[in-house]
Amino acid sequence: MSTGDSEVAGGSPAGGSAAPIVIVGAGLAGFSVARELRKLDKQVPIRMVTLDAGHFYSKPNLSNALAWKKTAEQLIASPRASVAAQLGIEILDHVCATRLLPNEHALVIGGERIEYAKLVLAVGAQPIRLPIAGSGAADILSVNHLDDYAVFRARLEGKRRIAILGAGLIGCEFANDLAGAGFAVDVFDVAPQALGRLLPPGAAAFLGAGLASAGVRFHFATGVDRVEKEGAGYVLMDASERSFETDLVLSAVGLRPETALARDAGLKVNRGIVVDAELRASDADVFAVGDCAEVQGLVLPFVLPIMQQARALAKTLAGAPTPVAYPAMPVVVKTPACPTVVCPPPVGAVGTWREESTATGVRGIFEDAAGKSLGFALVGSASAEKQALAVKMPSWL
Ligand SMILES: Cc1cc2nc3c(=O)[nH]c(=O)nc-3n(C[C@H](O)[C@H](O)[C@H](O)COP(=O)(O)OP(=O)(O)OC[C@H]3O[C@@H](n4cnc5c(N)ncnc54)[C@H](O)[C@@H]3O)c2cc1C
Repeated sequence: MSTGDSEVAGGSPAGGSAAPIVIVGAGLAGFSVARELRKLDKQVPIRMVTLDAGHFYSKPNLSNALAWKKTAEQLIASPRASVAAQLGIEILDHVCATRLLPNEHALVIGGERIEYAKLVLAVGAQPIRLPIAGSGAADILSVNHLDDYAVFRARLEGKRRIAILGAGLIGCEFANDLAGAGFAVDVFDVAPQALGRLLPPGAAAFLGAGLASAGVRFHFATGVDRVEKEGAGYVLMDASERSFETDLVLSAVGLRPETALARDAGLKVNRGIVVDAELRASDADVFAVGDCAEVQGLVLPFVLPIMQQARALAKTLAGAPTPVAYPAMPVVVKTPACPTVVCPPPVGAVGTWREESTATGVRGIFEDAAGKSLGFALVGSASAEKQALAVKMPSWL
């Protein structure tokens, strides 16, 4: 078995007679389920299995950590041993779950089988890799985990110009963070605006201008096809062979739910691992939560939905089946150069954006044909209206 250390605290899952609840993944989703379950049940053995070191950290900090001058180590909120002791769980770190055998209530990790009473898949999502050609393509970085951030920090040493692929939420956050830390930042996106999937055009233009005034240069309607190494840096090329020089390339073009373990086990998988409102997969004792889960057709890779999912799932695991409920869940975009909050309308909602602009901000409201507000986007000074508007928004589930 390819495990590193195992931290055991409280109870004795391995030695106890009952099969434990096994959680695969030590991200926000896995830890939130463990924490919520412990509030309801102090005794049930919980085993967590994770590919990484099993420390607890807040992933959203990865895209504003330069402003705080934080190293990867300084971002760890609770080291593995402390969090295991706090929650009374066992954490098997640096372990890859390679096979799930639902009919046998067993998980294969390395060469060993472990048994479970119930299994929670909290395996997250993987960065999407664009099909980019060229000698520098393999050097393109993505930052989706603490270890990625450590590599990113190391690679930034001595660099000045950074190219970011993707002007979505994560791309804009990194752009703001890097510009604030003194780097020259170029952001490329095939879309004609920032946060193309979240913001209406006026709000996006205001955010773009705010980031531009912080030193970020946007290249919209520009798809990078090729990255070639040149000296110590790189040359990016688009389809028209326009070229841009840079020292480092960071990709932030989105994430794809991690579904391989579930799919290979014969569980139903669509974009994410398909689960019902109780987070139950197509096997009665397997659940999925967080970035890997598609809950009643929705993949919501954000903190607030994960907290809601974890609370509901903990109740279900503790014996009181509980469907997840989503209140309005505004997402705060961490772009201090231009504060931005977005509460997207429910997926599939039909309506239009109504935008009101002032010199200091833009307020966008998404309304249905009857004038009912279904979502909002607030940029600049308008972001102060977040709380007041959030309580008026419909719930999603
Ligand atoms: C840079 C960045 C900034 C963000 N900022 C915000 C923000 O401001 N607000 C917001 O709401 N959301 C934000 N998000 C999204 C949010 O952080 C994620 O939705 C959330 O952290 C996902 O948690 P997770 O536990 O589902 O997945 P992850 O954190 O990816 O955890 C997955 C875990 O599964 C483990 N794993 C995977 N496969 C296996 C396997 N086969 N065997 C064993 N272990 C395995 C991994 O090691 C890991 O521990 C941000 C995301 C990023 C990348």
